[in-house]
Amino acid sequence: MLNELLAAAVVGGAGAFGAYWYLKFRCVLPIETSLRSSRKAFADFTAFTRETLERAYAPEQQEHYGDLTNYYLIKLHKSFPDTCTLLFEKGEGQWRLVNYLKSFKVEPKLLTSYRWSAFDRSSSAGELLRFDDVKVGDYQGVADLFSAFDIRAALMCPFSQAAGAPERLIVLGAAGPEVFDAAQPYMRFVASQLSSISKVSDQVFALKKETENLKNELGAAVKELDVAGSRLIQRAKERKALYEVVTSVTGPGGDVQYGCSAILNIVAKIVEADVAAALLFDEAKGELVVSPGAYGITDSERMLYSIPVNNQASSSVRTFLTRKPFITSDAQNDPDVLARYAKLWEIHSLMIVPICLRDRIIGVLRVGSRKADFFTPDQLEFLTIIADELAIIIEMVTLYENLSKTAQELAQLNRLKDEFLSTVSHELKTPLTTIKGFVSVILSGEVGPLNPQQLNFLSVVDQSVNRLTHLISNLLDLSRLNGKVEMEFQKTDLGELVRGSISNVSIKAREKRVALTNALEGKLPSVQADTRWIGQVIDNLLINAIKYSGSGAKISVSGTDKGEAVVICVEDNGPGIPVEEQRMVFEKFYRGKASANQVPGTGLGLAISRSVVEKHGGKIWVESKLGKGSRFCFALPVSKN
Ligand code: ADP
Repeated sequence: MLNELLAAAVVGGAGAFGAYWYLKFRCVLPIETSLRSSRKAFADFTAFTRETLERAYAPEQQEHYGDLTNYYLIKLHKSFPDTCTLLFEKGEGQWRLVNYLKSFKVEPKLLTSYRWSAFDRSSSAGELLRFDDVKVGDYQGVADLFSAFDIRAALMCPFSQAAGAPERLIVLGAAGPEVFDAAQPYMRFVASQLSSISKVSDQVFALKKETENLKNELGAAVKELDVAGSRLIQRAKERKALYEVVTSVTGPGGDVQYGCSAILNIVAKIVEADVAAALLFDEAKGELVVSPGAYGITDSERMLYSIPVNNQASSSVRTFLTRKPFITSDAQNDPDVLARYAKLWEIHSLMIVPICLRDRIIGVLRVGSRKADFFTPDQLEFLTIIADELAIIIEMVTLYENLSKTAQELAQLNRLKDEFLSTVSHELKTPLTTIKGFVSVILSGEVGPLNPQQLNFLSVVDQSVNRLTHLISNLLDLSRLNGKVEMEFQKTDLGELVRGSISNVSIKAREKRVALTNALEGKLPSVQADTRWIGQVIDNLLINAIKYSGSGAKISVSGTDKGEAVVICVEDNGPGIPVEEQRMVFEKFYRGKASANQVPGTGLGLAISRSVVEKHGGKIWVESKLGKGSRFCFALPVSKN
């Protein structure tokens, strides 16, 4: 029994042992192996997703998106090295092989496009498509391609890209379908990753595009502003240049003759022209003639340029007649232009505007460039504005020319008159001296006694000769002062000159019972003077005071030190001079209305005095009140050393 039990136990034990190992090998081991491999598969998949996720980013450019797709393809291929991964892209109904990873058995003849209905099905289905036993038949190139890559089973996964971008398809090809179970989650993960990245990228692209558009629009706006700004600056420059020309011509000391050429120069520079000319209408000739001061044209060339206003073939004439501006970009070949003149100055681009003075057209402004197609409508407008200014300047030039012609004629006449007076005076002086001499001798009784009537007549002759001598000596003085008389300056005490003059006229004063007072202020500073001429000025003023004030008058002579100058004044209590005559009394031959017929005189004394004082760098003037008297003063600068 025991033995039986023992035997039973041994058998039982052996059975259990056997059962244990049986179970261990047949059931547990496969489960453990499968568990281990599932764990590894899980770990691999987790690593794959983690790594690819780390690399996932939204590319900012389409090309980068392609790089990212390739990266996923490589990762996929690394996870399933026995397969091959192919990437297709659809365009115009055809599939193009974009990338592949696998060395092939036979070098495939790669096509630019592949066709297989399964590709399209897979693409539109939007999910994985599995072919455990691929039969592609003779669809375009696919059979060859699959055979070259040794693909007999295929797992295909489409994915969408950014809107508008081509559809894509990943194909995992293998010799058999065994690997597909494991590969499916990878493929799904890759497809979903690429789709979502693509969507984000889509937005990034759109944003970038919008930014780019905005940038372009902003750039265009800034450029437009720039253009407007520089145009404004250009306009401001043009106005400034114009203003400068006009003020240089019309302002004080402006040179009118220079104005025309200045304005044409500026016009030429602003519009970068090679030739700028004003063609003015010459009424006498009935022609348009180039005025002087043209830019880019020599004077001899200028003479060649004149167009009869009946020559309608000329664009200048037409602008002159119609007052319509004209512009052409190729003057030498334009039938509306007289090519002869365009060729003469090698002009291609041409602008012509009318020059109008108020309502009257006086000519045209012609501006040319040697470059073809050069001038713009803007420049034509500028030229029209300039033409108005030019018209004013041209009128001023004409007036100035007429005025200076008249002035020249007057100056010439004046010179002739002075020469005539000087010659006549010289010619008269000698015979008068002779007459004076003989009359004096006869009057003295040296050549025999005279009866009273003879004495009376001869006295009249003597007085007339005196007046004539005085006039001639005045005329000669004036002619000398007008000519190049040299003053003999020397350090002079004006007080002394005044005293000399008072003594010169004292007899005359006494005759007229005029009270002469010397009111000089002590010693006066010296001046540089020609004593003969300044002495004559003081004599003149004293004689005038005695002459015009009449008997019983009071005359005083004062001299004042004014620091920089010494002022000498001769004051009388005579009839005075009306205000309107006060300035004129210093003019040659002017005689006061009240005194002209009453008091003998030549009207030259004060003119000579003014000329002498001015030649000394001094001034002479009169202060007078009608009925109260006159005060004639002159000032001479004090001698510096
Ligand atoms: P003339 O005395 O020969 O006429 P002047 O040139 O000396 O020439 O003087 C010009 C004019 O000035 C005189 O005709 C006279 O009318 C006026 N005049 C000059 N001195 C006096 C004076 N002291 N009082 C009034 N009138 C004077």
